[in-house]
Parts: sequence; structure tokens; C-alpha cells
Amino acid sequence: MYKPRPRVFEPAGPKQPPPPGHSWEELMAGALRLARQGAEAGEVPVGALIVGPGGDILAEAHNAPIALNDPTAHAEILALRAAGKAAGNCRLAGCVLVVTLEPCPMCAAALVQARIAGLVFGAADETAGAVISRAEYLDFPSNHKVWHMGGLLARECSALLRGFFAQKRMSSSG
Ligand SMILES: [Zn+2]
Repeated sequence: MYKPRPRVFEPAGPKQPPPPGHSWEELMAGALRLARQGAEAGEVPVGALIVGPGGDILAEAHNAPIALNDPTAHAEILALRAAGKAAGNCRLAGCVLVVTLEPCPMCAAALVQARIAGLVFGAADETAGAVISRAEYLDFPSNHKVWHMGGLLARECSALLRGFFAQKRMSSSG
């Protein structure tokens, strides 16, 4: 099971206006709720949702590689697939993905493929984060730019991950 090293930091970067009817904090609280559902299912608690330019929630997902026997079933990938279906389009122009943990290289690349407008994430991931921690993938020269903003409710996002692995350690030693 992949174990992230979550890092809490203050929200940084240019603050983008949230979609109509939402605040970023409320959207992140929704992603946290999804992450908790993941933890209950025994998956690493990462949750993601995708909000459209009009404020509609197109997709919600949590990590599910174990349940699906799918190494690519990260919350972000599942949310991108569901949002593409919901939108009837493989491109998610104007949409924003909100996720509790900094995306890995695979998910950062998928965001560019989806032509998504922006990314909002909670805790950084010092092990595999590909947006600010281990790489700055979204800042590479590319055919599509994705704006990003991290550190939102990072304390809660990080605590959920740390608590999950602490509990796992206890139950395996006891
Ligand atoms: Zn990922």
C-alpha cells in the first residue's frame, strides 16, 4: 500500500475565484468526506471531486486500487473518468479538480490530458507529489497550463492520512 508523507502548509499561490455557489473550503470538505469513505473501505484516504464552471459537481471519487485491483485507480483518475462520462466529453474545459492530497506524476499528467482548468489540493506529499514537492509537473512548458493552489484544509487532510496509517500500525502489531 502506497504511503504518502503528508505535509501541512499555508495556502499559497494566486487565489482563484471559486465556482458559483461554492467556496474552496466547502469543496475541500466534500473531498475530505470522500476520503473518509475510502478509509472505511480500507483504501488510502484520498478523496477528489470535480466541479464544473457553472458550479455543478460532475464527479466524486476516493482511492480504490485495492477494491478494483487497479494500480491506476487513484481518486483523481476515477474522478476524471466519471466527469468525462458525465460531461460527455474527454476534455474538461473550465473544470477544477479538488483533491485532499497533492497529485502523483500519473495524476498530474492526467490533469493535463483532460485539459482541466485548475487544481486545488490539501496536503502536500513529500514522497510522490508531482505539483510542488518532488516535481513541478504542472509548471512545465506544455500545450496546456493547469493553475494550481495547495494547502487548503491541509491540516485535516494530513491528519486523516496519518491517523489511517497509525491505526493500521496498531492493528498489525496488536
Ligand atoms: Zn495519483
